[in-house]
Amino acid sequence: MQVIESPQEMQNWSRAQSRAGFRIGLVPTMGFLHEGHLSLVRKARELCDAVVVSIFVNPIQFGEGEDYDRYPRDLSRDLGLLQKEGVDAVFTPTVKSMYPEKEQTTVEPVAGMENKMCGRNRPGHFRGVTTVVSKLFNICLPDVAFFGQKDAQQALIIEKMVRDLNFPVRIVKGEIIREPDGLAMSSRNVYLSPEDREKATVLYRSLLMARDLINRGEREPSRVREAMLEMIKQVNGAQVDYVEIYNAFDLSELEEIRGQVLLALAVRFGTTRLIDNLLVEV
Ligand code: AMP
Repeated sequence: MQVIESPQEMQNWSRAQSRAGFRIGLVPTMGFLHEGHLSLVRKARELCDAVVVSIFVNPIQFGEGEDYDRYPRDLSRDLGLLQKEGVDAVFTPTVKSMYPEKEQTTVEPVAGMENKMCGRNRPGHFRGVTTVVSKLFNICLPDVAFFGQKDAQQALIIEKMVRDLNFPVRIVKGEIIREPDGLAMSSRNVYLSPEDREKATVLYRSLLMARDLINRGEREPSRVREAMLEMIKQVNGAQVDYVEIYNAFDLSELEEIRGQVLLALAVRFGTTRLIDNLLVEV
């Protein structure tokens, strides 16, 4: 397994793989890997000949006062896990090599998807994401790139960016991997105190309850939303950032629950913000 720090060297490596006729798969991550990341790596190994995993905590997608500095990092542990998965190359650039100047060109995500859910309370977050993913695509030159449904809005914004800017990359999405009690795996779960870790199961429980309501015939988005808010409110210390119900393809508003529907939420426990979502087909 090659560990490559320099963008130029990474590009050279990928070019050589392409020339040899290999199909390159890229799994972009911010490290501190868990089974959610590894499930994407395994999918990449199935579908591609050469697998690159990038590990980069991208400063420009973190807002003022967010957790960039304390974001968990453990490169040697991550490299051990990736080695076991049979990854071919790990791209670990420095911030300086990705953003050498203060003023940089950025990629603006489409407003209709960017300014709701996670975009509302994290201004500039998705511009940071589309910018870094564009750079990773140009550096790692993947044929296929793998993103988790855990970050549903991010995956939709990237799919749209790829279509709009004609990136020659196929996007494959991987299902959400959960802990046995239903909590979606996340590098940020380590921030939770044991009490909050227990309370955090309310995210998935509220999604399942909402799906149940819909399956029993509820078609009014506001009533489903209210029921979720009510359930989360019961949990001491849980602060709702958003609970939303949207069309799963373009995040447009729904007058009634019909078709592929995305139930999505973000909840804070102290300074830890967790997200989760569920797709429901009606
Ligand atoms: P991150 O390191 O949090 O930026 O995540 C890197 C990639 O892993 C993103 O495409 C995420 O959506 C995906 N991912 C994170 N958590 C999970 C999970 N629990 N299940 C599946 N994919 C995940």
